[in-house]
Amino acid sequence: MHTIVVGAGIAGVSTAYELALRGAEVTLIDQCEGAGLGTSYANGGQLSACEVAPWAGPEIPGLVLKWLGRDDAPFRLRPKMDPEQWLWLMRFLMRCRASARRERIAPNLELALLTRARLAAYEEEFAKAGMTLDYGRKDRGILRIFRDAHEFDEAAREAEPIAKMGVGQTKLTPAQCIDLEPALAPAMQRGDIAGGLYAASDGSGDAHLYSVALAEGAKRLGVRFLTEVDVRRLVVEGGRVKGVETAAGLVEGDAVVLAAGTGTQALLQPLGHRSYIYPVKGYSVTLPAPEGNAPEVSITDEARKIVVSRLGDRLRAAGQAEVGGYDLTLEEARARSVMDALESLFPQTGPERGAAEYWCGLRPMTPDGSPVLGAVPQFSNLYVNSGHGTLGWTLGAGSGAAVADMVCGSTSQLDLSPFSIRRFR
Ligand SMILES: Cc1cc2nc3c(=O)[nH]c(=O)nc-3n(C[C@H](O)[C@H](O)[C@H](O)COP(=O)(O)OP(=O)(O)OC[C@H]3O[C@@H](n4cnc5c(N)ncnc54)[C@H](O)[C@@H]3O)c2cc1C
Repeated sequence: MHTIVVGAGIAGVSTAYELALRGAEVTLIDQCEGAGLGTSYANGGQLSACEVAPWAGPEIPGLVLKWLGRDDAPFRLRPKMDPEQWLWLMRFLMRCRASARRERIAPNLELALLTRARLAAYEEEFAKAGMTLDYGRKDRGILRIFRDAHEFDEAAREAEPIAKMGVGQTKLTPAQCIDLEPALAPAMQRGDIAGGLYAASDGSGDAHLYSVALAEGAKRLGVRFLTEVDVRRLVVEGGRVKGVETAAGLVEGDAVVLAAGTGTQALLQPLGHRSYIYPVKGYSVTLPAPEGNAPEVSITDEARKIVVSRLGDRLRAAGQAEVGGYDLTLEEARARSVMDALESLFPQTGPERGAAEYWCGLRPMTPDGSPVLGAVPQFSNLYVNSGHGTLGWTLGAGSGAAVADMVCGSTSQLDLSPFSIRRFR
């Protein structure tokens, strides 16, 4: 069976690799010149199974109003004359309830745990083939720090049901936070830490390096990788997708998986399907890790709304959310606000500011904070693996495995019904 996978970010590369492991013939296609050059290029790096709750929650409407009009606000809405945006926003607002957030945690967590298992398996498979899957992985956990004591208590309460599902977070005093991550000492001295929640089993890594390395592994398993090829549309014949139309002609396949991130909806739309995947722009800054006192543990700073990950000899901070369409212009004020937040948390990064690299990317986001995985109704051979939003790195490898099972008709490792595109009807 020949399967075409459109998109070579975390989702597409993982799908192609998993399909090849199951013996499928695979063609992986991307419009960029290599793997992981879309949103997977410079994300926050966190593999955060313990923190898979969707963004939509009861506090969000109030925060959006509070931040209205601020250029450096962590969340910004840029209204567009685009019905897709308004439909997405309406659905997102409807999900801003505690019960709606809770409902998504268990399925997301299962997918995150499957990702953990698959990443470990890939490392073994690479080793057996005499290769190394090196993506700067750090297994030092993720520490969420809180400035506000009330918010800290609230978050600790919210973490309890997740702990019951087997992935606990430990409540830490400010002093314990510093014992764990001494690089936070300046923040504690300023009184910026009321407490922390530590997820010891989580970690971090570079999603771009992963995508490149796994694409190489996939090629070794026989995957054909077509780069700089833009898929213009899906070619349909009698309830089946015959293939994909590109500038170089028709590529035919027995099945097609759309893993095109924010490009997924444009390919689905002509077939009459709405995935509710809409771009939410974010920013990151990557700089040399200051020698001697750079953090090793990945940090989520709940007050500054940034995440920080150590990636080898570099440090990356990421944050910001802007619902404003597909524009990828890097706005200096917003990029700088991520750097400012990093420097205020870790003043030791100040001297490296001149070497900082700024980046922005579009999170392919659904209103409910879970990806769209599985078959597309009315088409017997069309599948989606997209819409991972804020969690693409955390959920990517598991999504690839689960969708590959479905395409190959194998017994699925996961119940995919909570991720079906049908949930948006
Ligand atoms: C600032 C920021 C921080 C983040 N931090 C984290 C984090 O810490 N942890 C986490 O888990 N997640 C994080 N994320 C989310 C994560 O990065 C994304 O969910 C993930 O990268 C999405 O991967 P993808 O493969 O679906 O999309 P992409 O990486 O965008 O891949 C899609 C690919 O499809 C290709 N494509 C699209 N349309 C076509 C077409 N028509 N023809 C050919 N090719 C096409 C594109 O070129 C692209 O390469 C963050 C995101 C951002 C923006």
